[in-house]
Amino acid sequence: MKTIGLIGGMSWESSAEYYRIVNEEVKRKLGGLHSANCILYSVDFAEIQRYQLEGEWNRAGEVLANAAYSLQLAGADCVVICTNTMHKVSDVIEQKINIPLLHIADTIAKQINESGLKKVGLLGTKYTMEQDFYTSRLQLNGIDSVIPKLEEREIINQIIFEELCLGIIKESSREYYLKVINRLVDEGAEGIILGCTEIGLLVKQKHTDIPLFDTTMIHAIEAVNHAFRQNE
Ligand code: GLU
Repeated sequence: MKTIGLIGGMSWESSAEYYRIVNEEVKRKLGGLHSANCILYSVDFAEIQRYQLEGEWNRAGEVLANAAYSLQLAGADCVVICTNTMHKVSDVIEQKINIPLLHIADTIAKQINESGLKKVGLLGTKYTMEQDFYTSRLQLNGIDSVIPKLEEREIINQIIFEELCLGIIKESSREYYLKVINRLVDEGAEGIILGCTEIGLLVKQKHTDIPLFDTTMIHAIEAVNHAFRQNE
């Protein structure tokens, strides 16, 4: 089993999920007391969020690239960025390391392709929904996406930063997300990407019949699959 390098803290609420899922998946594969070989480098999210708000993406990229390099020095065999949004700077991070970075959008697209869907709704931070670093990567993998309307995007983003990243789960916010999900389906979405690693804490498959693609779950499981693959 290879060693998984996790860049977390964005927020730690979702990094804790990655940690739980990689360990559960290794236990599911190997049984007994087996658990994942992994290293978590957790950053201070307040600093990263400040760079996001100021549009200082290069500085955020530098912080994460240094984290990735530290993971490599510590013996990680791959790097997993535990947030969709910060894949905006995945190139900067990749340049600093010579171990593979498991890109979240490629991983999700692969899963969507396997399920045979072509067009999906995308929920995430405003950066993920509005800028093209994520949707273009999905498109490269043959997946079309639809995003919520401006007003919906504002509320979805606010719920992420003011509730979910702080561990606050509200029924009213869940209802709002489900309302937007249904509207995206009316616009032609065949499934929904929970494209922010905290959304799975709020909306789960049991809340809707519409197929959900939980990026935290799918990405963490791919990290474990990678850890067991030979020659990669
Ligand atoms: N965890 C979130 C994501 O997956 C949002 C936090 C961030 O801005 O990195 O996009």
